[in-house]
Amino acid sequence: MNGHKDEVAKQNWQCYKCKIPMSMGKVKITYMGNDFNIDLLKCSECGLTLVSEDLAVRKMFEVEQTLEDK
Ligand SMILES: [Zn+2]
Repeated sequence: MNGHKDEVAKQNWQCYKCKIPMSMGKVKITYMGNDFNIDLLKCSECGLTLVSEDLAVRKMFEVEQTLEDK
């Protein structure tokens, strides 16, 4: 037995290209002719976002619906 410690418990999202941790940032998305800024995890190096644009649009659509509900 050795005292090897592995620290895999904490999940850090990182860019698969740059291998650096991603951070929250505003991402501009154009949807139905309107520009929206959403907070997404993105890579500060290459600008890659964690979620796909498709998912981001869906998330935005939910926000839109929430607004309309009021
Ligand atoms: Zn990157």
